Amino acid sequence: MADSHDLTPQPIPTELHSDYEERPFRICTRCGETLCDFVEGYQIAKVFRRGEVVFEYALCAPCHTGLVDEFSDESRQTLEKFYHENITIGLGSEACAICRCGRADLAEPEFTLGAVCHGTELLESLMICGACAEKSGSFISKKTQEVFGDFINDNFPGVPADALPSPTPITYF
Ligand SMILES: [Zn+2]
Ligand SMILES: [Zn+2]
Repeated sequence: MADSHDLTPQPIPTELHSDYEERPFRICTRCGETLCDFVEGYQIAKVFRRGEVVFEYALCAPCHTGLVDEFSDESRQTLEKFYHENITIGLGSEACAICRCGRADLAEPEFTLGAVCHGTELLESLMICGACAEKSGSFISKKTQEVFGDFINDNFPGVPADALPSPTPITYF
C-alpha cells in the first residue's frame, strides 16, 4: 500500500513528539536504543482522547517487526487484508485513513495518530478515528490481543485496558 505514494520527508510536528517527555521521542519504548541510530527508521503511535494523550510509544524497526512477528499468522493476515482494503495512505493526520472523516467532525473526540519517522524527519503519518480503530480491533484474534496487551502492560504499567490502541497499520518495515 505504500508503493503508490511518494514520501516527502518533513520535520516531525510537535503533535508527534513525546507528551510525557515534552520533546521528540529519542529512544525506543521497548529496547531503549536511540531511535536516530536505526537506518530503517521507527514508528510512533499516540492515542488522543478529548484532547489528552492517553497513550504513546515509539518503536524502532526491529522491535516493531518483533512485535508483529508475535501475532498469529491468521491475525496478521486478517489485519493486513483489512488495512489493505480499507486504509487510504496519504491523507495525513487530519482525516481518518479509513472512514475519511475529518478530525473536527468526529462523533467522539478520540483518535490514534500513527507515524513513520526517520531520524528527525516524518515520512508518513495517518489518523484513525476511535470508531474505526474499534472496528479493526475486532478483526484480530484473542491471542494477538493478548500479545499486544502484554507488550503494552510490560512497557506501560497502568494504562487502562480500554485505552489500548490497535497495532499500528503502517507497515513499511
Ligand atoms: Zn527497539
Ligand atoms: Zn474513521
